[in-house]
Amino acid sequence: MRIAVENLSVDFATPTGTAHAVRDVSIATEAGSIIGIVGESGSGKSTIGLALLGLLADNARVRSGALILGAERFDLTRSNATAELRGTRIAMIFQDPLSSLNPVFTIRSHLYEVLRRRPSALPMAKAAEEALDSVGIDRPRQRLDQYPHELSGGMRQRVAIAMALLARPHLLIADEPTTALDVTVEAQVMLEIRKLRDTIGCTILFITHSLGLVAQHCDDIAVLYAGEMVEQGKVVDVAAAPGHPYTAALLSCEVTIDQPRGSNAIENRFRVVPGELPDIRHRPPGCIFQPRCEFAFAPCPVVVPPYYPAPGGASHVASCHLRAPA
Ligand code: SF4
Repeated sequence: MRIAVENLSVDFATPTGTAHAVRDVSIATEAGSIIGIVGESGSGKSTIGLALLGLLADNARVRSGALILGAERFDLTRSNATAELRGTRIAMIFQDPLSSLNPVFTIRSHLYEVLRRRPSALPMAKAAEEALDSVGIDRPRQRLDQYPHELSGGMRQRVAIAMALLARPHLLIADEPTTALDVTVEAQVMLEIRKLRDTIGCTILFITHSLGLVAQHCDDIAVLYAGEMVEQGKVVDVAAAPGHPYTAALLSCEVTIDQPRGSNAIENRFRVVPGELPDIRHRPPGCIFQPRCEFAFAPCPVVVPPYYPAPGGASHVASCHLRAPA
């Protein structure tokens, strides 16, 4: 099944003007693939996930955009366009499971709520217990009557994955699902998310700021900068030969365990992308990355670069004038 986001633009009304948080973002993906949505804080990653689910704040407006699920097209500018899909054909795993799970309801109540919308062939108690067991939660029968605060962060996130497993969605949005976890639990939770994909064949939009996690777990990558998608392609292609200077800069900032250490403090400093994200209320003309780009040349401050083919193959594109055919 083809799953795609087409021309999504989201604005937020603020006391100091309209913030254009997401501008004309299109993402194409195949059923069963995991696509990493990567960018700095404030790049619009989470806004995309919330817009697809119709969970944006009251001051947000979807200016344009559609969600394609197979042969169906959902116009995201209509309020509640995807309300019927929430918890059934689209599910979401949030960053902080303590705030996404309701503290006054037991784990059983959370799982039963999903089962009421997506009935199982098994009795509810059996289906709920099996879902907890399949995401690696020990003593699942006892866990059903516990409250979210009685579980560890990793277990709470496994409960969220179990809920997604019971919902059997076509599209799962995982919004920085491991940010609040330590690295060993992060690895376990990522494996559970991949297992979920393998079990039910859903497509996963994996929102993260970690290129390392994308490299390990994703098939495709979309790089966002200040609300615009600047590069998209297969992870192997983008990692081997990034087509956009921003992606290259992000990759060069990744810290690896075998990185050689210099002999003084300056050499040992972490690399950063110089400069800051632009004010999204006042988009600079031309290329959005131009104020921070060391390769900027004549057309960059004037002309918005279209998507050009990048080195990796047919599905690899980057919006950079350096990629313009000679
Ligand atoms: Fe840099 Fe120009 Fe490419 Fe933008 S279009 S990323 S400014 S080289």
